[in-house]
Amino acid sequence: MLVILSGVSGSGKDTIKQELIKRMDDVISLPSFTSRNPREGEQEGVQYHFISKEEFEEKIQNNEFYEYDLHHENYYGTSRKLMNEKIQSGKIIVKDIEVNGTENLIKLLKDETQLITIFLRVDKDELRKRLENRGDNLTEEEMQLRLGRLEYEESKINLYDYMIKNDDLEKTVQIIMAIIENEKRLGTQK
Ligand code: 5GP
Repeated sequence: MLVILSGVSGSGKDTIKQELIKRMDDVISLPSFTSRNPREGEQEGVQYHFISKEEFEEKIQNNEFYEYDLHHENYYGTSRKLMNEKIQSGKIIVKDIEVNGTENLIKLLKDETQLITIFLRVDKDELRKRLENRGDNLTEEEMQLRLGRLEYEESKINLYDYMIKNDDLEKTVQIIMAIIENEKRLGTQK
Protein backbone atom coordinates (compact mmCIF):
# COMPACT_ATOMS: atom_id res chain seq x y z
CA MET A 1 0.00 0.00 0.00
CA LEU A 2 1.21 3.48 -0.82
CA VAL A 3 -0.05 6.46 1.19
CA ILE A 4 0.69 9.80 -0.46
CA LEU A 5 0.64 12.91 1.71
CA SER A 6 0.54 16.27 -0.05
CA GLY A 7 0.28 19.87 1.00
CA VAL A 8 2.60 22.84 0.72
CA SER A 9 5.93 23.08 2.57
CA GLY A 10 4.93 23.91 6.12
CA SER A 11 1.66 21.97 6.07
CA GLY A 12 3.10 19.45 8.50
CA LYS A 13 3.60 16.48 6.16
CA ASP A 14 7.01 15.58 7.45
CA THR A 15 6.06 15.59 11.14
CA ILE A 16 2.94 13.57 10.42
CA LYS A 17 4.93 11.06 8.40
CA GLN A 18 7.39 10.61 11.29
CA GLU A 19 4.53 10.10 13.75
CA LEU A 20 2.88 7.45 11.56
CA ILE A 21 6.18 5.56 11.26
CA LYS A 22 6.68 5.74 15.02
CA ARG A 23 3.17 4.64 15.94
CA MET A 24 2.29 2.03 13.29
CA ASP A 25 4.28 -1.20 13.03
CA ASP A 26 4.07 -1.78 9.30
CA VAL A 27 4.52 1.81 8.11
CA ILE A 28 7.81 2.80 6.48
CA SER A 29 9.13 5.81 4.58
CA LEU A 30 10.66 5.97 1.13
CA PRO A 31 13.17 8.79 0.88
CA SER A 32 13.10 10.62 -2.44
CA PHE A 33 16.12 11.94 -4.27
CA THR A 34 16.60 15.70 -4.28
CA SER A 35 19.10 18.23 -5.52
CA ARG A 36 18.33 20.67 -2.69
CA ASN A 37 20.77 21.12 0.20
CA PRO A 38 20.04 19.32 3.48
CA ARG A 39 18.34 21.47 6.15
CA GLU A 40 19.73 21.50 9.64
CA GLY A 41 19.25 18.08 11.23
CA GLU A 42 18.49 16.29 7.96
CA GLN A 43 20.51 13.18 7.26
CA GLU A 44 21.46 11.43 4.03
CA GLY A 45 19.08 8.54 3.34
CA VAL A 46 16.62 9.51 6.09
CA GLN A 47 14.56 12.46 4.82
CA TYR A 48 16.12 12.36 1.33
CA HIS A 49 19.00 11.07 -0.74
CA PHE A 50 20.86 14.31 -1.41
CA ILE A 51 22.58 14.50 -4.81
CA SER A 52 23.79 17.27 -7.11
CA LYS A 53 21.74 18.74 -9.96
CA GLU A 54 24.09 17.05 -12.43
CA GLU A 55 23.69 13.64 -10.79
CA PHE A 56 19.92 14.12 -10.76
CA GLU A 57 19.89 14.96 -14.47
CA GLU A 58 21.93 11.85 -15.20
CA LYS A 59 19.35 9.74 -13.36
CA ILE A 60 16.59 11.37 -15.42
CA GLN A 61 18.45 10.42 -18.60
CA ASN A 62 18.78 6.84 -17.31
CA ASN A 63 15.04 6.69 -16.63
CA GLU A 64 15.59 5.93 -12.95
CA PHE A 65 12.56 7.87 -11.69
CA TYR A 66 8.87 6.97 -11.64
CA GLU A 67 8.26 10.69 -11.53
CA TYR A 68 10.22 13.81 -10.77
CA ASP A 69 9.46 17.48 -10.49
CA LEU A 70 11.32 20.76 -10.37
CA HIS A 71 10.06 22.49 -7.26
CA HIS A 72 11.37 25.79 -5.85
CA GLU A 73 14.24 25.41 -8.36
CA ASN A 74 15.29 22.01 -7.01
CA TYR A 75 14.64 18.55 -8.36
CA TYR A 76 12.69 15.95 -6.38
CA GLY A 77 12.08 12.42 -7.61
CA THR A 78 10.86 8.94 -6.72
CA SER A 79 13.28 6.15 -7.49
CA ARG A 80 11.72 3.36 -9.55
CA LYS A 81 14.01 0.75 -8.00
CA LEU A 82 13.53 1.78 -4.35
CA MET A 83 9.76 2.12 -4.77
CA ASN A 84 9.40 -1.34 -6.36
CA GLU A 85 11.52 -2.96 -3.64
CA LYS A 86 9.47 -1.39 -0.87
CA ILE A 87 6.09 -2.10 -2.45
CA GLN A 88 7.07 -5.75 -2.83
CA SER A 89 8.01 -5.92 0.85
CA GLY A 90 4.27 -5.66 1.64
CA LYS A 91 4.75 -2.73 4.03
CA ILE A 92 2.71 0.46 4.03
CA ILE A 93 4.81 3.19 2.42
CA VAL A 94 4.08 6.76 3.48
CA LYS A 95 5.48 9.29 1.09
CA ASP A 96 5.19 13.04 0.91
CA ILE A 97 5.01 14.36 -2.61
CA GLU A 98 3.77 17.57 -4.16
CA VAL A 99 0.72 17.62 -6.42
CA ASN A 100 2.37 17.10 -9.83
CA GLY A 101 4.22 14.02 -8.60
CA THR A 102 1.01 12.69 -7.07
CA GLU A 103 -0.85 13.13 -10.35
CA ASN A 104 1.85 11.13 -12.14
CA LEU A 105 2.03 8.38 -9.53
CA ILE A 106 -1.76 7.93 -9.55
CA LYS A 107 -1.62 7.35 -13.33
CA LEU A 108 1.32 4.97 -13.05
CA LEU A 109 0.41 2.92 -9.99
CA LYS A 110 -3.34 2.94 -9.43
CA ASP A 111 -3.91 -0.39 -11.21
CA GLU A 112 -1.13 -2.26 -9.47
CA THR A 113 -0.94 -0.88 -5.94
CA GLN A 114 -3.45 0.08 -3.28
CA LEU A 115 -3.06 3.83 -3.29
CA ILE A 116 -4.40 6.32 -0.72
CA THR A 117 -3.97 10.03 -1.38
CA ILE A 118 -4.35 12.61 1.38
CA PHE A 119 -4.13 16.39 1.05
CA LEU A 120 -3.23 18.42 4.13
CA ARG A 121 -4.67 21.92 4.14
CA VAL A 122 -3.36 24.85 6.09
CA ASP A 123 -4.53 28.50 6.18
CA LYS A 124 -2.32 31.04 4.45
CA ASP A 125 -1.73 33.09 7.64
CA GLU A 126 -0.93 29.99 9.65
CA LEU A 127 1.45 28.83 6.92
CA ARG A 128 3.34 32.13 6.98
CA LYS A 129 3.75 31.78 10.75
CA ARG A 130 5.03 28.22 10.48
CA LEU A 131 7.49 29.09 7.72
CA GLU A 132 8.78 32.06 9.72
CA ASN A 133 9.31 29.85 12.78
CA ARG A 134 10.94 26.96 10.96
CA GLY A 135 14.41 28.45 10.84
CA ASP A 136 14.89 28.33 7.04
CA ASN A 137 15.56 32.11 7.01
CA LEU A 138 13.47 32.64 3.89
CA THR A 139 13.74 35.96 2.08
CA GLU A 140 10.42 37.77 1.43
CA GLU A 141 10.67 36.64 -2.21
CA GLU A 142 11.08 32.99 -1.18
CA MET A 143 8.20 33.40 1.26
CA GLN A 144 5.95 34.75 -1.52
CA LEU A 145 6.97 31.84 -3.75
CA ARG A 146 5.87 29.37 -1.08
CA LEU A 147 2.64 31.18 -0.28
CA GLY A 148 1.89 31.39 -4.02
CA ARG A 149 2.41 27.67 -4.28
CA LEU A 150 -0.45 27.16 -1.79
CA GLU A 151 -3.00 28.35 -4.35
CA TYR A 152 -1.58 26.11 -7.08
CA GLU A 153 -1.55 23.03 -4.84
CA GLU A 154 -5.08 23.71 -3.61
CA SER A 155 -6.28 23.94 -7.21
CA LYS A 156 -5.40 20.24 -7.54
CA ILE A 157 -7.31 19.10 -4.47
CA ASN A 158 -9.77 17.03 -6.52
CA LEU A 159 -7.05 14.48 -7.22
CA TYR A 160 -7.15 13.34 -3.60
CA ASP A 161 -9.17 10.69 -1.75
CA TYR A 162 -9.08 12.66 1.51
CA MET A 163 -8.57 16.27 2.53
CA ILE A 164 -7.72 17.13 6.14
CA LYS A 165 -7.30 20.58 7.64
CA ASN A 166 -4.14 20.21 9.70
CA ASP A 167 -4.73 22.67 12.53
CA ASP A 168 -4.13 20.11 15.28
CA LEU A 169 -1.27 17.68 14.78
CA GLU A 170 -2.51 14.99 17.17
CA LYS A 171 -5.99 15.01 15.69
CA THR A 172 -4.61 14.80 12.13
CA VAL A 173 -2.35 11.86 13.03
CA GLN A 174 -5.27 10.01 14.64
CA ILE A 175 -7.49 10.61 11.59
CA ILE A 176 -4.82 9.37 9.18
CA MET A 177 -4.15 6.28 11.32
CA ALA A 178 -7.86 5.47 11.21
CA ILE A 179 -7.92 5.99 7.42
CA ILE A 180 -4.97 3.63 6.94
CA GLU A 181 -6.46 0.94 9.21
CA ASN A 182 -9.79 1.13 7.41
CA GLU A 183 -8.29 1.11 3.93
CA LYS A 184 -6.12 -1.85 4.93
CA ARG A 185 -9.20 -3.78 6.04
CA LEU A 186 -11.17 -2.82 2.93
CA GLY A 187 -8.20 -3.66 0.69
CA THR A 188 -7.89 -7.17 2.04
CA GLN A 189 -11.62 -7.71 1.62
CA LYS A 190 -11.45 -7.10 -2.15
P1 5GP B 1 10.94 20.14 0.94
O1 5GP B 1 12.07 20.82 0.23
O2 5GP B 1 10.13 21.07 1.79
O3 5GP B 1 11.43 18.92 1.70
O4 5GP B 1 9.97 19.56 -0.16
C1 5GP B 1 9.44 20.35 -1.17
C2 5GP B 1 8.32 19.62 -1.88
O5 5GP B 1 8.81 18.50 -2.64
C3 5GP B 1 7.29 19.04 -0.93
O6 5GP B 1 6.00 19.45 -1.39
C4 5GP B 1 7.47 17.55 -1.05
O7 5GP B 1 6.25 16.86 -0.82
C5 5GP B 1 7.92 17.41 -2.48
N1 5GP B 1 8.58 16.15 -2.76
C6 5GP B 1 9.34 15.40 -1.94
N2 5GP B 1 9.75 14.28 -2.55
C7 5GP B 1 9.20 14.29 -3.79
C8 5GP B 1 9.26 13.40 -4.91
O8 5GP B 1 9.87 12.34 -4.91
N3 5GP B 1 8.59 13.80 -6.03
C9 5GP B 1 7.89 14.95 -6.11
N4 5GP B 1 7.26 15.21 -7.23
N5 5GP B 1 7.83 15.82 -5.07
C10 5GP B 1 8.47 15.50 -3.93
